[in-house]
Amino acid sequence: MIPILDSKRQYAKIGSEVEKAVCEVLRSGSYILGPNVKALENELANYIGCNYTVGLNSGTDALHIALRALDIGAGDEVITTAFTFVATTESIEIVGATPVFCDINPDTFNIDADKIEELITPRTKAIMPVHLYGQPCDMDKIMDIAKRHNLYVIEDCCQAIGAKYKGQMVGTFGDIGCYSFYPTKNLGGMGDGGLITVNSENLKNRIVALRNHGGAIRYHHDEVGVNSRLDEIQAAILRVKLNYIDEWNKLRREHASTYNELLSSCSDIQTPKELDDTYCVYHQYTVKIPNRDEIHKMLQESGIGAMLYYPIPLHMQKVHSHLGYKMGDLPITEKNTECVISLPMFPELTLEEQKTVASTLISCLEKSKALI
Ligand SMILES: *Cc1c(COP(=O)(O)O)cnc(C)c1O
Repeated sequence: MIPILDSKRQYAKIGSEVEKAVCEVLRSGSYILGPNVKALENELANYIGCNYTVGLNSGTDALHIALRALDIGAGDEVITTAFTFVATTESIEIVGATPVFCDINPDTFNIDADKIEELITPRTKAIMPVHLYGQPCDMDKIMDIAKRHNLYVIEDCCQAIGAKYKGQMVGTFGDIGCYSFYPTKNLGGMGDGGLITVNSENLKNRIVALRNHGGAIRYHHDEVGVNSRLDEIQAAILRVKLNYIDEWNKLRREHASTYNELLSSCSDIQTPKELDDTYCVYHQYTVKIPNRDEIHKMLQESGIGAMLYYPIPLHMQKVHSHLGYKMGDLPITEKNTECVISLPMFPELTLEEQKTVASTLISCLEKSKALI
């Protein structure tokens, strides 16, 4: 069995450091928004290269608090992608705004910046690009459109911590960047967690208030906020792991190029492409293949933990049915949904395992062809 991700292998390496850090928190008596959260916020602001970060309960909270902080709500439209995890567009619905789906670039799986402008209306308030699978979006084009049309940009960086576009980390281009520390993410906690990156001090203050019941001063509430405080145990764990993130992302990139080589002999497999001058962090290694559903089943039966991210495009999900989209509205999104498959990818993956994954995938493709 080769899993898509094996968190236990990572724990075997750093467990003793994590346990020490967690025990210190347990003994400290300070469990929520304490010194570890403060330190993590500073360390991540330094690492990502922004003025401020705010620790939160989840990536989903980061996204909808970002929208709240920019006063985006009922009657407003946010242009985004349907080829992402539901939390992206759910956050837009949570604040009462309307997601407007833009089709994707078939090579990067990310929002097609050339198709954004035709979707802009007087109600458009923001663009929400998602750096899917750890691959940066075309930020030059997106920021240029946003400037010309006076739109906010909220980057969904939940799969892309450490990814760079032209040498600059994602999450620092737009007004707000949103991160998740869900355990499977490249920088994952051992529970839920999230983070916002921001350069404006005013916005930072608003977000700090929103995360704790809408008030900067305890028991003074200026507006309706939420409880989205990050806890000390998660922050302490994330501080240990932050020391390894560059090494882990580098290993993911090495595994990606190994897969590219191992799969290059099979013309049925389209391996991932990178935009020029980007540093992808391969949260997922996703290829395109024919007969995807059948191959997926065959791989699972062979003990390869391949996964489909994501099997239904968001414009076809029941939660968004009130928006009135139909099949055919986002042809490239729909086509890619049918042929993508993500292969096992995590820093501790071995060369032997990669060879097994590649040869199994190639032989499954050959078998399925012979059956036709
Ligand atoms: C994981 C993820 C989220 C949500 O993060 P949570 O911490 O699980 O709430 C949002 N967007 C994308 C693209 C994600 O991958």
